Amino acid sequence: MSHASPPVRRVTDWDFDQLSALAAEHDTPLYVVDLDRVAANYERFAAAFPDAHVMYAAKAHTGRAVLETLLDAGADIECAARGELQRAIGAGADPDTLQYTAVNPPDADLDYAAELGAEHPGLTVTGGARDTFDRLEARGYDGRVAIRINPGIGTGHHEKVATGKDAKFGIPYDEVVELADDLRERFDLVGLHAHMGSGVLHDDLDDHCRAIGKVADLAREVTAETGVDLEFVDFGGGFGVPYREDEEPLDVETVGEKVREAVGELDAQIKLEPGRYVVADAELILTEVNTVKETPEATVVGVDASLATLIRPAMFDSYHPIANVSAPDRELEPVSVGGPCCTSADVFCTDRPIARPEREDLLAIGNAGAYGYELANQFHSQPRPAEVAVEGDETRVVRRRESMDDVTRVEREAPSAEEGDRRR
Ligand SMILES: *Cc1c(COP(=O)(O)O)cnc(C)c1O
Repeated sequence: MSHASPPVRRVTDWDFDQLSALAAEHDTPLYVVDLDRVAANYERFAAAFPDAHVMYAAKAHTGRAVLETLLDAGADIECAARGELQRAIGAGADPDTLQYTAVNPPDADLDYAAELGAEHPGLTVTGGARDTFDRLEARGYDGRVAIRINPGIGTGHHEKVATGKDAKFGIPYDEVVELADDLRERFDLVGLHAHMGSGVLHDDLDDHCRAIGKVADLAREVTAETGVDLEFVDFGGGFGVPYREDEEPLDVETVGEKVREAVGELDAQIKLEPGRYVVADAELILTEVNTVKETPEATVVGVDASLATLIRPAMFDSYHPIANVSAPDRELEPVSVGGPCCTSADVFCTDRPIARPEREDLLAIGNAGAYGYELANQFHSQPRPAEVAVEGDETRVVRRRESMDDVTRVEREAPSAEEGDRRR
């Protein structure tokens, strides 16, 4: 199988001839996802945790082709919203295997979960506030639940993802035993859950494992104090990938050993739910250079991708590798690459050495699989890009490019549009 897959795929490892052909056929900006790499990443991760139950956290990339690939590879799916549950089921997931992590869930999401759970008792709902459990009970839900814990330790690549120490997420550590004692009377309490942060690499691993150890301690305490035999303890996702060229990938075997060591003796099954790790390096964005402007301060390279295509640099100051697919061998020149949006946040890099871009060159922005298309938007009335999947020797469009018609449809179909142009 693909266990021999390399632990990291750099943007320069892609087949540039194939990328040029895809851009010529499908236009730019274009998302290109390698489904074989998605499957290989999942398999490598799961192999490093042989006794754990590894789910895929759908929110990193909910594209149907990705979900189908992971279901085929044997992954179960973790969802954090009603729409993700619906899309997982649409891609073929058995609802009895789904896990729904509810964060300040809107009524419609809980209505849906309660209905789904009534028909599919295998569904597990994870709550991180007492209100969520009360609201579930009010909907007649008495099925499987897990308690999301706030371990008080957050980890990851940016403070905006360090969920483990953010009061928004989970029940305060010291209140979990009491809540467990209450919930076991009202539901089928099957697990504890924690998600500490995202983008954890080697430097953060000790903190991450410390948080995992705290959660495992709490699981033992819950069982000792309340007598509940927990079926699982879920330590969330958060496993990072190297975005910078000089960063080393996680050695997942070592991570597997460290996690097991941090957990210690535990009767419950270990669950993990990586998102980013599975999809990040399996996708890139192709974008065309339309402007090269020399100024006293910088060489500014304008491209047709923007923060509407990939918002991570603007939102998290994220680094994404960029390669010149048309001319990888040109001499390196420090350039700033940005898109057509009228904000200074619309930059992919500043003064970064790239094989000197010229107008009409094709650039690849790497590691765009996680929270890439997922966070794409229509700022500046830009239709969202197409997505092409590569699988073996085949390529196929898995999301067509949006049109202006898609962008304006919700206005044209608004009830007031049908009343006529009263306001004009
Ligand atoms: C976002 C999220 C994940 C996945 O995080 P990654 O950093 O992408 O691995 C897993 N579990 C929960 C509950 C999440 O919210």
